[in-house]
Amino acid sequence: MNPNWILQRAHVTPTRRALIFEDQSWTFEEIKNISVHRAKQLATLGVQHYSRIAIIGPSQPRLIFMMYACMHLQCEMVMLNRKLSKEELQYQIEDAGVEVVLVDDEDISLIPENTPHLLFTTIESSEATSINIHNEWSNEQTISIMYTSGTTGFPKGVRQTVGNHQASALSSVLNIGLSEDDVWLCVVPLFHISGFSILVRSLLYGNQVKLYKKFDKEQCVNDIAKGNVTHMSVVAVMLERILQGLEEKDSQASPKFKLILAGGGPVPVHYLERASRLNLPVSQTYGMTETSSQTATLSNQDAFRKIGSAGKPLFFNQIKIANSTMPNEEGEILIRGPHVTPGYIGRFSDKSSTIDGWLHTGDIGYLDEDGYLYVLDRRSDLIISGGENIYPAEIENVLMSHEAVREAGVCGVEDDVWGQVPAAFVVLKTTITEEELLQFCRGKLGKYKIPKYIYFVPSLPRNGSNKLMRRKLKEYIM
Ligand code: ATP
Ligand code: MG
Repeated sequence: MNPNWILQRAHVTPTRRALIFEDQSWTFEEIKNISVHRAKQLATLGVQHYSRIAIIGPSQPRLIFMMYACMHLQCEMVMLNRKLSKEELQYQIEDAGVEVVLVDDEDISLIPENTPHLLFTTIESSEATSINIHNEWSNEQTISIMYTSGTTGFPKGVRQTVGNHQASALSSVLNIGLSEDDVWLCVVPLFHISGFSILVRSLLYGNQVKLYKKFDKEQCVNDIAKGNVTHMSVVAVMLERILQGLEEKDSQASPKFKLILAGGGPVPVHYLERASRLNLPVSQTYGMTETSSQTATLSNQDAFRKIGSAGKPLFFNQIKIANSTMPNEEGEILIRGPHVTPGYIGRFSDKSSTIDGWLHTGDIGYLDEDGYLYVLDRRSDLIISGGENIYPAEIENVLMSHEAVREAGVCGVEDDVWGQVPAAFVVLKTTITEEELLQFCRGKLGKYKIPKYIYFVPSLPRNGSNKLMRRKLKEYIM
C-alpha cells in the first residue's frame, strides 16, 4: 500500500509552499484542506468513491484542487484536452463511459450539449458531507486516464496507476536530483502527462510548482533570467520561443535555473546549441502517455557529447530495440518497467499494452555502444525510397535549421521510380525560393533524402497536443 500522497505530504511538510499562481500562493496544508473539503462537496453532489469521472478546465489552482479532491475519492479521472473539438470530446466521454464531467465554468461551451456535468462553481458552493477519506492507496489503483494524442490514429485511453506515477516520479528524481528550494514551472497542460507529472512530483518530493494559465514567452523568459524558477518542462515549439525571447533581450538563464526537460517529440539539435549559448541547461527526454511521462532522459552534461540522444533509460526502466543484437541497429523501441500502463480502456480495452512484458512503442530508434537511446521517428511515418529508409524528422530538422523557415513537415509520396520520395511542406518566416532551400539541404542531407517536392503552406496540420500529423500532410496536395 502507498500513502494518500496529498495527506502524507501535508503531514510531512505542512507549512512548505506548494503552489504559486499569479500573486497568490498555497502551502501543502492549505491545499490538503481545500481538496478534502472539495471531496466532501463532491460527495454531496453524488460523486462516489472509485467512480470514473472526467474533468476539464484551464490550468489554474481550482483545477488542481478539483483533481486532488477526486484523488481523495479515489476516482478514475479522465483528463479531457481543452483543445479538442466537441466531436472529439464526445468520443472520449462516451468511450470512457464516465458518470459525470466536472467542468470549469469557463469551459462549459467546450463540452457537447446534454453531457451530464457539474460546474466547478456548483461544487465549490455546495454543502460538505462527512465522508471517510482513505489514507492508503493501492499500487494498482487507476488515478488518471489520459488519451494519447491521436498522432498516428485514434486516441487511446490509457490507464495510469498509483504505481505508474510513483515509479515515474522516483526514476525522475534519481536522475535529476532534488533540493528543497526547487520550483517547477508548469506551462504545459495539466490534462497531459507532462503537466500532471509535475503535480505528482511536487506531492512526492515536496517542491513548489509555479503555474501559468497559459504559456507566455515574456513571463517565462523573465522567470528563467531572474531565477524565480529552477525547472520547467516544454515541448520543442515552446523551447524555440524561449530561446528567441532570451536572444531578443540579449539575456541569459540565471545560474539558479537548473533544467529544462524537453520532450513530447523530437527536439531539433540546433535548439540545443542555441540553449547552450544562453547558459540554459536542456535535457532531451523521451516518453509517452503509456509510460506516465519520461522513460529515458539525457543528462545535461551529455547534451553535446551525445547530441540528439534522448539519453539512457531512467533507473527502474529498461529499453531494448526489437530484433536487434548489436549497438546502433535500428528497430522498434520496446519499453519495460513499473511506469508502463497496465492497459487501455474503452474501444482499445482488448488491446494488450505489452507483448511478453514489453511495451511496443511504434517508434523507431537505436541504442549506441554506450547504451544511449536515439529516437528516429514513428514507424508509421517511415519513408522507404529505393530500398533506403528515410526518417521525416531528419529532413524536418535540416529544413528548420534554415533561418527563413518557421515550421516544416515531411511525408512520403508515391513515385514510379523509387516507390516513395520525400515531400516537404514548409511554413516560412521570410521569403526564400524553393531552389535556395534545396541548395541548403544538398549540403546537409544525402541525395536520396533531398525532398523531391517543396510546398510553401500557411500552416501545418496539428492535433490537440500541437503535434504534427504527417498523415494529413498529403491532403494538401490531393
Ligand atoms: P498516438 O499514440 O495516439 O498516435 P502520440 O503517440 O503522439 O499519439 P503521446 O503519448 O502524447 O501520443 O506521445 C508520445 C510519442 O511522442 C512517442 O511515442 C514519440 O513518438 C513522441 N516523442 C516523445 N518524446 C520524443 C522524443 N524525445 N523524440 C522523438 N519523439 C518523441
Ligand atoms: Mg503513441
